[in-house]
Amino acid sequence: MTSLPRASSLNAARRARDLAALPGEVVDVLVVGLGATGAGVALDAAARGFSVAAIDARDLAFGTSRWSSKLIHGGLRYLASGRIAVAHESAVERGILMTRTAPHLVRAQPFVLPLAAAVSRAQGAVTATGLLAGDALRAAARTPRSVLPGPRRLSAAETLRLAPALAPDGLRGGLLSWDGRLADDARLVTAIARTAAAHGARVLTRCRALALTGDGARVRDELTGAEFDVRARAVVNAAGVWAGGLVDGVSLRPSRGTHLVVRDASLAGTSAGMHVPMPGSADRFVLVLPQGDGRIYVGLTDEPADGPVPDVPEPTPGEIGFLLDVLGSVLARPVRAADVVGAFAGLRPLLDGGAGATADLSRRHAVLTSRDGVVTVVGGKLTTYRRMAADAVDAVLAGGRLAGPPSRTDRIPLVGAADAASLARLDAPRRLVARYGTEAPLVAALAADDPALLEPVVPGSAALGVELAWAVRHEGALTAGDLLDRRTRIGLVAADRAAALPAAEALLAR
Ligand SMILES: Cc1cc2nc3c(=O)[nH]c(=O)nc-3n(C[C@H](O)[C@H](O)[C@H](O)COP(=O)(O)OP(=O)(O)OC[C@H]3O[C@@H](n4cnc5c(N)ncnc54)[C@H](O)[C@@H]3O)c2cc1C
Repeated sequence: MTSLPRASSLNAARRARDLAALPGEVVDVLVVGLGATGAGVALDAAARGFSVAAIDARDLAFGTSRWSSKLIHGGLRYLASGRIAVAHESAVERGILMTRTAPHLVRAQPFVLPLAAAVSRAQGAVTATGLLAGDALRAAARTPRSVLPGPRRLSAAETLRLAPALAPDGLRGGLLSWDGRLADDARLVTAIARTAAAHGARVLTRCRALALTGDGARVRDELTGAEFDVRARAVVNAAGVWAGGLVDGVSLRPSRGTHLVVRDASLAGTSAGMHVPMPGSADRFVLVLPQGDGRIYVGLTDEPADGPVPDVPEPTPGEIGFLLDVLGSVLARPVRAADVVGAFAGLRPLLDGGAGATADLSRRHAVLTSRDGVVTVVGGKLTTYRRMAADAVDAVLAGGRLAGPPSRTDRIPLVGAADAASLARLDAPRRLVARYGTEAPLVAALAADDPALLEPVVPGSAALGVELAWAVRHEGALTAGDLLDRRTRIGLVAADRAAALPAAEALLAR
């Protein structure tokens, strides 16, 4: 059996030790924010041999990183706007994640685009050409077809087999394509943060940066209220849509993207994803995203979200209605508002260029160095977190504050990573293998004295009791919210969350 993952384990005892050591040190790199980007910076810097402290005001993946569509994109939509370099970067990063660094967390997901009555022949032809271009990107990024199959045209019968909820009337067939899908976005962040910890980074949740300079930060321990200074040779601000509040000269205007959560039965048990064209648009789609755990997400919108940045953005009834309407345009039986068991929203950062001008940073990230040397990295995608992190640490080196080797994270597997054949041989429940990779047998072993832990925490939600226990011992979960809303996603359905809360609280009390 694999040995216990001590070096990568995060828990309350390690947090207390790391926190106690921090005020007496000068770390090489202080990273602010533990979403995908900040966790990626912590890993990149630690793997180059730097001493690292990485802090989050709340928890791993508290921000935008847990509200995504959970796709590892090949960059197809950037091709449409002629941004070939951005598209290629996405496709390369997708290949690295799927073949080397996180093959346990990223799966090939088939998507069907229904050629329904509402989709004109011209729209269908444009999309088919786009899918071929996406396959060329895959080939250019050297991701083999065995990992991501090529696109093809489907007959009407094949389309209905893959997506049985579609209305058969007027269906001319479909277009099949493949992309990467994460087991869960918050789990990717946890895996990156733990891999950084295994390389020596101090990973500290519930530590808020109150003020930053190029030489460190004033920090508050949000559990005790105690304030202290962290001294650092370099500071990287990876606070996502909150980044502008920490440095001068970075001004963000977010836009909200909303997803719905429905049960599998509401879409006749569809297992393939769907691209549902938005009315009148050849390149904008509502996505149907089956999660393989009894839930399907449907998204997403793009609405300006001016004003103060909320901790947790809320979807509006208008956005929910819009998604249901577009989805209903291709279904035999529309999904009703009463079928929606949850909804979530995330904020995309738009860089405010002043005088009403904005730049959409969801395409490519920006790395900005403030006058006193704080490096801010913002925008981009989960897919490209590794490249963003490498660029941010390169910017630190370029500023002359530290000297070190180039990034090597493209060759560092995240905790739990292994190839498909090795994962298939593991003796553990498949759900655990899909979320914990090679650690799945260790997670399952936590049920040795209490077999009930291998049962779902609540009926109707796939997460098992051992997942909560593992999260407390090895994944830094400190509160019921950490357990239900980030280490597992039970909380995406409010009724499931309420039912699971006593179990989570009882576990933490033990
Ligand atoms: C609706 C939506 C869907 C998306 N779908 C996809 C997708 O399918 N695939 C994809 O590749 N990308 C997708 N993206 C993009 C992707 O989600 C983001 O680019 C990414 O999650 C940003 O991560 P981040 O680490 O930069 O920010 P965040 O995840 O927001 O992390 C910032 C962290 O900083 C912390 N913080 C804030 N202030 C402080 C402070 N003062 N002190 C300490 N910590 C602080 C916060 O608590 C937070 O945890 C999507 C984005 C949106 C909005």
